[in-house]
Parts: sequence; C-alpha cells; structure tokens
Amino acid sequence: MSIATRLMLLGAPGAGKGTQAVRLVDELGIPQISTGDLLRNAVAQGTDLGKEAQTYMAAGKLVPDELVLSLVVARLSEPDAANGYILDGFPRNISQAEALVARGIKLDRVLSLDVPKEELIGRLTGRRICRACQASYHLTFNPSKKEGVCDRCGGELYQRKDDSADVIANRLEVYEAQTAPLLDYYEKAGILRRIPGTGSIEGIYAAIQNALVM
Ligand code: AMP
Repeated sequence: MSIATRLMLLGAPGAGKGTQAVRLVDELGIPQISTGDLLRNAVAQGTDLGKEAQTYMAAGKLVPDELVLSLVVARLSEPDAANGYILDGFPRNISQAEALVARGIKLDRVLSLDVPKEELIGRLTGRRICRACQASYHLTFNPSKKEGVCDRCGGELYQRKDDSADVIANRLEVYEAQTAPLLDYYEKAGILRRIPGTGSIEGIYAAIQNALVM
C-alpha cells in the first residue's frame, strides 16, 4: 500500500479545494501549488505576467494557457515539489492537462470535490482569505477564531475582488464549459476519485484520505 502524492484537486470555485489543500499540506508535507495564488502574487508584484493576467482574472475568465503554464512549470521544478504536490486550480481545461502530459508530468490522483451549484454561491460570497498564507475561511461556515485574523498564521483576512456576485456567475460558467470536461478526461485515465464536497470539513478530509490509498 502506498499513498498518492502527485495530486490535483478539481472542483468548481468554492468547492473547498483550498480548504482541503491546507490540511493535505500539513499532513503530507508536500506543497500546495495554486495557480490562482501564483497569479494573484504576480498581480500584486506588478510583473509583466501579472499585468497581462489581471484583466482576465477580474472578469472571471481563464488566463491564457501559456502564461499559467510558465508559472506552474517553474513552480513544479522547485525542490520542495520533488516528492509530490497538490495542484489546486490547475489544469483548468483539457489543453492544460495535455500540456502536463507533454512535459512528462504525471498525476497519481485527481480528487474532484462535488458541490451543488446553489451552495457554491453562498460559499464564495462569504469567503475570506488570509493575505499571508492564503488559508480560506467562511464568515458563517468556517469562521476564524478572531474576526479578520488567520488562525494559522495571524495574517489579515480579506475578501477576494472576484468573489463578488457578478464575477462569481462568470467563474461558475467558465468552470462548467472549460473545466468540468476534465472529469471525463481523468475518469478515462483511471485516476479520478469523486468526493462529495458537502458536510463537515473533517468528513470531507477523511474521504480524501481514503482516496489517496493506491
Ligand atoms: P482561483 O484562485 O483558482 O479561483 O483562480 C482565480 C482566477 O485566476 C481564475 O478566475 C482565473 O482567472 C485565474 N486562473 C487560476 N488558475 C488558472 C488556470 N489554471 N488557467 C487559467 N486561469 C487561471
């Protein structure tokens, strides 16, 4: 028996990928590689890539593949990713998945967190993120112990600009049209595991742990 360590978390915005990734990082000691976080950093630092990505992100559209790929490939080649990683928010469409294959990057497990669409909207509008460590909270369902402060690192919590009602609608549409086809793609590859993403955070995490056994 072994435990899968080259992982991808698949799911609509608000499905709980970031929340569960933090737990996997703590337990498995492998990094979370979130393309959303990498892109938000690039925007915050004002790099050329960040400037180019910004308009797509603000509209809830996918950033062009070549920009995202350059970030991910560089991040995957860092030493801390040598023994495994948790891809969060990447691949986001079939062509990104094929770009991984073309580079010889193989995933052991794709974990899909399945959450009904009606629930996603409430999760996203109440979501708060830590500016320092990117841990994710929810005002009602998963509040921090002290308002506005991250339990994990003491960082400041903020609301993402694209967690506004109009942009959320676009992001959910983009997920259906471009990302959901990956369910079929990874099912055919035999590495997909579908996990109900509703219920307690601990219960969902337990189901993820079971799905890692190879
Ligand atoms: P996320 O934090 O995963 O919700 O991503 C926030 C935004 O970053 C998305 O709405 C996209 O604009 C962009 N983004 C993140 N990951 C990708 C990706 N793999 N491909 C294209 N755009 C992405």
